[in-house]
Amino acid sequence: MEHGMLSGRRCLVTGGSKGIGKAVVEAFLREGAAVDYLSRSKADDHDSLAAMGPLGWLACDVSDAEALEAVVEEAVKTAPYDVVVNNAGVTRDGLSFRMPLDDWRAVIDTNLTSAFIVSRVAARAMIKRRSGSVINVASVVGLVGNGGQTNYSASKAGLIGLTKSLAREVASRGVRVNAIAPGYIDTAMTEAIPETAKSALRERIPLGRTGTPAEVASVALFLASDLASYVTGEVIRIDGGMAM
Ligand code: NDP
Repeated sequence: MEHGMLSGRRCLVTGGSKGIGKAVVEAFLREGAAVDYLSRSKADDHDSLAAMGPLGWLACDVSDAEALEAVVEEAVKTAPYDVVVNNAGVTRDGLSFRMPLDDWRAVIDTNLTSAFIVSRVAARAMIKRRSGSVINVASVVGLVGNGGQTNYSASKAGLIGLTKSLAREVASRGVRVNAIAPGYIDTAMTEAIPETAKSALRERIPLGRTGTPAEVASVALFLASDLASYVTGEVIRIDGGMAM
């Protein structure tokens, strides 16, 4: 597509093999970008996605900091990324008093440290070009907290702090850094929530329904594009009004 919003842009999406990340990959391809996604497994429908535009898969476990840094360093040697979406994330829920330290570390490493590593490698390359957009996928629980998710909420609140601090470091070089904070989105991550808890959650959502990965991808597309050229250090909630 020649006239897409991301025509000619090179993008990286971590955790692009399913859920929200895959919806972002699709939205970016539809708007003319060349997209690499990074995950442990290849998307089930990789080939049909690849029919939409230039698509690469970088196999990597983001919780392995050294491996992740090496993979992204190698990728930016080809050409800098114009857009990076730090989306890979996991939950390991449990009450804090009973939470094994391994569950704390796994979530912080996967959700937060990975974004620090990918962002600084990618942003260094963006700075040389004096343009770029980094988007961190946080969560409303990073804003308001959630019992049983101290590790996850801390990782997401950390992402918001990382977003604002990095935004200040690189703004003068033309690079924008923003976060999105989804609420309750229908993906594999939320599938495990018991139905009773799900309907209680829905009652707390002013728009009266859960969100879709495509609705999150639309906001990521906005932040990636020139439409958001004067937006940096921002956190955009995509939660049907849940955390307002
Ligand atoms: P999914 O479980 O559907 O997808 C998670 C993605 O992250 C997959 O592509 C997975 O790929 C990748 N991933 C997980 N762990 C690793 C790892 N160690 N290394 C590399 N890739 C990894 O989750 P969602 O789409 O729901 O979540 C995406 C993001 O959105 C997460 O950061 C999540 O915290 C956030 N979010 C989700 C909400 C929701 O309601 N769904 C609400 C708020 C925020 P693979 O398994 O192939 O490695």
